[in-house]
Amino acid sequence: MTYFIKCPACQKEGLDPRYSPVACIHCKKEFNIVGFCPTCHAELQKFKCCSVDFFCNTCNELISKKRVEFRVTPVSP
Ligand SMILES: [Zn+2]
Ligand SMILES: [Zn+2]
Repeated sequence: MTYFIKCPACQKEGLDPRYSPVACIHCKKEFNIVGFCPTCHAELQKFKCCSVDFFCNTCNELISKKRVEFRVTPVSP
């Protein structure tokens, strides 16, 4: 099942963190999504090969998307 994070524009879970920029499936607004480590707050690398998981270079650890702190910023119009 695809994991969606909450859209700051419509407050529904409509952003797929596998992509950036990504359009909300509900309101179609576009956002840039950056993931941060919940432990050390470093910017995470996306693990594109198989799933939606992220990797922290600092902690040397794979981080589940449910633990990642996502920063969502609107793509300028
Ligand atoms: Zn939305
Ligand atoms: Zn970390």
